[in-house]
Amino acid sequence: MSAAVLLKDVFGFDAFRPGQQEIVEAVIAGENTLAIMPTGGGKSLCFQLPALAREGVTVVISPLIALMRDQVRALQSAGVEAGALTSGNTEEETEAVWTGLEAGTLRLLYMAPERLAAGGTMQMLRRVGVTMIAVDEAHCVSQWGHDFRPDYLRIGELRRMLDVPLAAFTATADAETRAEIVQKLFDGAAPSTFLRGFDRPNIHLAFAVKDGPRAQILNFAAARKGQSGIVYCGTRAKTETLARALSEAGHSACNYHGGMEAEDRRIVERRFQQEDGLIVCATVAFGMGIDKPDIRWVAHADLPKSIESYYQEIGRAGRDGAPAETLTLFGPDDIRYRRQQIDEGLAPPERRAADHGRLNALLGLAEALQCRRVNLLSYFGEDPQPCGNCDLCDKPADIFDGTTAVRMALSAALRTDESFGAGHLIDILLGAKTEKIAQRGHDSLPTYGVGKDYDKRQWQAIFRQMMGRDLMRPDRERHGALRMTEDARPILRGEATIQLRRDSIKAAKGSGPKVRQMVSEEDAPLLSALKAKRRFFAEQLGGPAYIVFNDKTLIEMAEKRPVTIDQMAGISGVGAKKLESYGSAFLAVIAGAVEEVHPMRRKLAGRSEGAVYDRLLAVQAELSRGADGAGKPMSLSASTLAKVAQLRTADMAGLTRVIGDKYAERFGDAFLEILQDG
Ligand code: ADP
Ligand code: ZN
Repeated sequence: MSAAVLLKDVFGFDAFRPGQQEIVEAVIAGENTLAIMPTGGGKSLCFQLPALAREGVTVVISPLIALMRDQVRALQSAGVEAGALTSGNTEEETEAVWTGLEAGTLRLLYMAPERLAAGGTMQMLRRVGVTMIAVDEAHCVSQWGHDFRPDYLRIGELRRMLDVPLAAFTATADAETRAEIVQKLFDGAAPSTFLRGFDRPNIHLAFAVKDGPRAQILNFAAARKGQSGIVYCGTRAKTETLARALSEAGHSACNYHGGMEAEDRRIVERRFQQEDGLIVCATVAFGMGIDKPDIRWVAHADLPKSIESYYQEIGRAGRDGAPAETLTLFGPDDIRYRRQQIDEGLAPPERRAADHGRLNALLGLAEALQCRRVNLLSYFGEDPQPCGNCDLCDKPADIFDGTTAVRMALSAALRTDESFGAGHLIDILLGAKTEKIAQRGHDSLPTYGVGKDYDKRQWQAIFRQMMGRDLMRPDRERHGALRMTEDARPILRGEATIQLRRDSIKAAKGSGPKVRQMVSEEDAPLLSALKAKRRFFAEQLGGPAYIVFNDKTLIEMAEKRPVTIDQMAGISGVGAKKLESYGSAFLAVIAGAVEEVHPMRRKLAGRSEGAVYDRLLAVQAELSRGADGAGKPMSLSASTLAKVAQLRTADMAGLTRVIGDKYAERFGDAFLEILQDG
């Protein structure tokens, strides 16, 4: 079967994701390949599909048993003969794998690297006719990385012994790791290398300055109730308190950190994988072990440690390609804490300087004045256009010329011998009468009281931005006193100007990012019905929901509403096997919904009121949470909307009589506009 046919028939996809096709072709052609793709880019397909296109068995080396089991289950549910040899197997599972291997029907054999150490494994793989090796998370071979797995070093030996092509996959892009992979897996002979872009266009990016951070996280979660999410926390203690607060607010939430018993951690990983809508408050220890494609949001309750960590952590959201949201909170304390962590670490000086650089890149992103994605991807060497899917594209930053303010602040620091933190410097700039100022005679400084154009909060924001732009750094030898950096010198000398954001404090006080629904209000009930059906099947299988269908597939069903089995087959993610197993059940759900929603609209069919009805419905969906997207969701019944569409006199009084005060307040103006020109 050709690649395109396999793609559609087995995996149910109409098209390759960007970058997949070249990789698939190279792997099918039997080339040694190294593919670097962002998380969620669709790496697994790049070895699963070739495994089916080629003769014989493909052995897949993957570091985590739980993930292997899920992939095997997903393949089996798509009708592919796949199996795993892991310590977690039941006897029957192992038996089935051996039977499949002996009969020559097994196509993919997953195993953990440790298995390669067991006597006889390599010989066994030769005997059963392995024709390709696929290595997932290939960066685990890197001794310098965090995920180093010594047994990955045996893979090179396996390749030499079997003398078959090897395809390696990773999301880790840096050149050192790549070189190490080539060295250890390919004996230094460069494979065909594919480096796919780092954009994850479906992930919405947003940052906010901490301002009542617990409430900020609670609001963010409340706007996404019922959706799976991760809250990354800076400390273990915070994972507990936040999880408790979220539970008290009615969410299903739990916590996770490296200090928990292994067994408890596994339970959380398992629950997260299986349940729909669990929130995990976690330290960064919650990472590699999660392979859930339908994480709908990731929030950072504290600033991550570098731009790379940020990218990796938010990248766990939305791997299925459906919309996902992120929010990263930060404040001056985070900046101080992260700097201190680097300075007090044991790394050699050059390494520390590089770490400060990586932190600076993240702070630059946090304090960005324009599109976050442009900022982020530029760091990774790409040259993108403004994205339209970040907080700064949604609402441009309010920028002012901060040159004078910054020079005042620098001058205050220099004139006090760079011995004080932001609090005291702000007191000087504002001309405050504190004991500390009086004691040290700082009220006679020329900078005393020169900063009265800004209030205290504004000065705090200016200092934070100065730290974020690395114009000032807390000096750990002087209890965090702020020191000017070289970067600030041109501004101080009047050779450079600087723009600052005015609104970051205000924005943080607002409602947080706009609520995004996965589908329009109109399709929402159908989507939940489809999810309920999916849960039913997932429970029967005893596996995670996405093994049945992922969110993106359900969204497409809710929007396109296929009626026939052929239309259902056209939905992305519905392959032949899944069509057979679930097609008619999901069609029935859709048919039910079509019946339910449409009679009102059908009555208006062919009349001008029909078009008016559709426009009312669209506007209602847009305003369902109010103009600012922060209100409680509201919508009118189909029959009320039909009444509105048929209103003869288009004035507020008449409209209010039909829909009532509450609804008139939210929708009145927009409805009248439609009625008046309709
Ligand atoms: P990763 O690169 O992180 O390993 P996966 O292989 O898990 O990513 O794929 C992420 C998601 O993308 C999965 O839900 C998968 O079903 C989906 N996917 C992969 N390829 C395609 C495609 N060509 N079209 C649509 N969805 C795809
Ligand atoms: Zn943008």
